[in-house]
Amino acid sequence: MIDFSVEPEFQAKLDWMAQFVRDECETMDLLFPGPNAMYDKTYKPALRHLKPLQEQVKAQGLWACHLGRNLGGPGYGQVKLGLMNEILGRSNWAPTVFGTAAPDTGNAEILALFGTDEQKRKYLDPLMAGEIVSCFSMTEPQGGADPGEFTCKAWRDGDEWVIEGEKWFSSNARHAAFCLVICVTDAEAKLTERMSMFIVPTDTPGFEIIRNVGIAGAQETIDDGQSCYVRYNRCRVPLDYMLGNPGEGFKVAQARLGGGRIHHAMRTVGRCQRAIDMMLERAVSRRTKGRMLGDHQMVQAKIAESIIQLEQFRLLVLKTAWIIDEIEAGRMPHGASRNHIGMCKVAMAQVYHDIVGKALELHGSLGISLEMPLADWYAGHMALAFADGPTDVHKSQLARAYLKKARPAPGLFPSEHVPTRLAAAKARFPHYLDAE
Ligand SMILES: Cc1cc2nc3c(=O)[nH]c(=O)nc-3n(C[C@H](O)[C@H](O)[C@H](O)COP(=O)(O)OP(=O)(O)OC[C@H]3O[C@@H](n4cnc5c(N)ncnc54)[C@H](O)[C@@H]3O)c2cc1C
Repeated sequence: MIDFSVEPEFQAKLDWMAQFVRDECETMDLLFPGPNAMYDKTYKPALRHLKPLQEQVKAQGLWACHLGRNLGGPGYGQVKLGLMNEILGRSNWAPTVFGTAAPDTGNAEILALFGTDEQKRKYLDPLMAGEIVSCFSMTEPQGGADPGEFTCKAWRDGDEWVIEGEKWFSSNARHAAFCLVICVTDAEAKLTERMSMFIVPTDTPGFEIIRNVGIAGAQETIDDGQSCYVRYNRCRVPLDYMLGNPGEGFKVAQARLGGGRIHHAMRTVGRCQRAIDMMLERAVSRRTKGRMLGDHQMVQAKIAESIIQLEQFRLLVLKTAWIIDEIEAGRMPHGASRNHIGMCKVAMAQVYHDIVGKALELHGSLGISLEMPLADWYAGHMALAFADGPTDVHKSQLARAYLKKARPAPGLFPSEHVPTRLAAAKARFPHYLDAE
């Protein structure tokens, strides 16, 4: 039975989080806007505010809750994490304050699963402590995130791996202590065995940031963004800086991507709820034509559609979280969540676009101004569509998964063709019109 209820003790934690995020994390959003302040671990003013907040989170046992017990986390499971992430999604700073910021969350999982003890000490421990940030370097400028098009390669030279090639949109590379880089190690192997995953510390000779690309809606400028264009100029790393075995890069990457997508979706629920809260406040605050905005039916329609759309999306996200928990508990097979994670990924950008767009509309010129956060959020909806793979690719994968199970019609007409079915029913009951 699907059950999203939580015990009172956990609800008390959620209540604490909701208040804390509103009071403290949203204040950080105002005092230190923009991602540079968030990821730059040398920016002292923000760190001075951040550290005491992180201590409070740790004291509540709410630090880095994405990791399961086997990986050193509290192991709340995905449904509870979903409820927590909804709250964190309201604020840009909240994931950093709670130790659950992407891409560090997924990178920590990879290191915990595949790193050596020494690598865990050197990279995972400070990452988990929030002392450093990391980067996941997969997408390439010429071929996007399609592994079949990757050209960044690595080869063995004595006791080292040599890495050469370019990566595009490697988030936070400019502030990262290390990047996890996926490289072609055997161009002749089949696609799923062609790549391997490496740790590349960013102080490795040959590591170069070509540009810090800025994106719309993220309070960045054209060349002062977080989506870094990176070149690996024959960077040399020790042999054991490969994570997993040669050819397992794809498998290692998959270990993080599913989690990343569902966590983005959970946070999107919270951001959309905040947009609806703003919509409701506006509707009962502003008058036009002698009535409150909320008394106009077009406005009521926008509010009702947004509430319904968010409820549908929230249930999809929580059901997906529940399926992942069932898999973890051994009650569902590995891979049972794949389609649902795809559904969340596809729905996420659309729901966010629709709800934030309606909230912006109800705020009129104020909404499009930078005096409200809505215009930045609205501009960011396509980032949600592209990050972790374009929406179109997920739509296509989802449809193909269902098409694989579909069977062709048994004859000339579809199996639901009424005359054909009626003929079969009459053949089964030839005397159906008899009165006796
Ligand atoms: C905010 C943000 C952060 C990111 N962070 C990272 C990061 O940290 N590390 C990293 O490696 N990457 C990162 N990315 C990159 C992201 O993974 C890619 O943007 C995404 O995979 C798509 O690649 P692309 O942008 O090259 O688009 P393209 O691959 O060029 O796709 C463009 C469009 O072409 C169409 N298309 C492409 N492929 C198909 C297909 N198979 N079937 C049908 N239509 C298709 C779709 O309409 C798609 O929207 C980030 C992106 C964003 C926006």
